[in-house]
Amino acid sequence: MPQFLGKIIFLENYDMTVSKRLITGVDIWLNTPTRPLEASGTSGEKAEMNGLLNFSVLDGWWYEGYRKGAGWALTAKRSYTDQGQQDRLDSATIYSMLENEIIPLYFAKNSKGYSPEWIQYIKNSIAYIAPNYTMSRMMHDYFDRFYNPEASRAKELKANNYAAAREIVEWKENVAARWNDVNLVGEVELSEQLNTPNASSENMTFSATLRVNTAGLGRSIQVEAVAYKDEDGESKFYKTIPATIVAEDGDVITYKVDYKVRHSGIYRYSFRIYPWNDKMAHRQDFAYMKWV
Ligand SMILES: *Cc1c(COP(=O)(O)O)cnc(C)c1O
Repeated sequence: MPQFLGKIIFLENYDMTVSKRLITGVDIWLNTPTRPLEASGTSGEKAEMNGLLNFSVLDGWWYEGYRKGAGWALTAKRSYTDQGQQDRLDSATIYSMLENEIIPLYFAKNSKGYSPEWIQYIKNSIAYIAPNYTMSRMMHDYFDRFYNPEASRAKELKANNYAAAREIVEWKENVAARWNDVNLVGEVELSEQLNTPNASSENMTFSATLRVNTAGLGRSIQVEAVAYKDEDGESKFYKTIPATIVAEDGDVITYKVDYKVRHSGIYRYSFRIYPWNDKMAHRQDFAYMKWV
């Protein structure tokens, strides 16, 4: 389109060499993704590493990376559902910020020919943003959250010719064989107040008792309540509340859920039974579940 001639440049064969030239040749890295479609904005992180200041929509990496005084941001919120309207607003905001804030800061040069405030922005950005986006930080996250726990877990499972792994498998097979017979005995007993239709007021105790036939699985069977709260006409997940065992009579175990309601509102709730073994790494490791 003729109106873009000489204003927009399309770079073919973008590679590290071209990228290096871009990074060293500009003062601001501007990214204007359509919220919330920015996957990451890796090039902005790269610019950051090289002392450039970012000016972007709070989307992708910039949503978490932005710090005041270390770059500039356009709000994460959309004002319009219509993209054309939104684009016009964003463009007006970008021009206004450039004109009134960013360019004056850049040209507030001292006798030595540079803007100390601009340099301060760069220093802030290198000090407070860049360290969070290094490969070292990423690797530490992987080690702390995944690799190290997985390595020690693997070691535990393998010890003594896979003793722990065999034990878990045996337990799972036992649960699978008996699972169909695990059932609620009678009805869920609710505390009196809760029998009035789902309304809860502050400091009221939500309390329910369930008797479950554990089919020989005993304390491997756990129970929890799942609460939903009505918000803006929608029922939203609120909390899971674990039940404790209050009585055991042969195969029948009695579970009790006690929860002090802290916020008034309309709650909905349901209960579910699931198998658990302390040797499992996570519930999803064996996702059997019965809603009652
Ligand atoms: C920085 C860089 C990218 C990432 O750019 P985006 O704008 O985030 O997609 C891709 N390719 C090369 C060669 C780069 O240097």
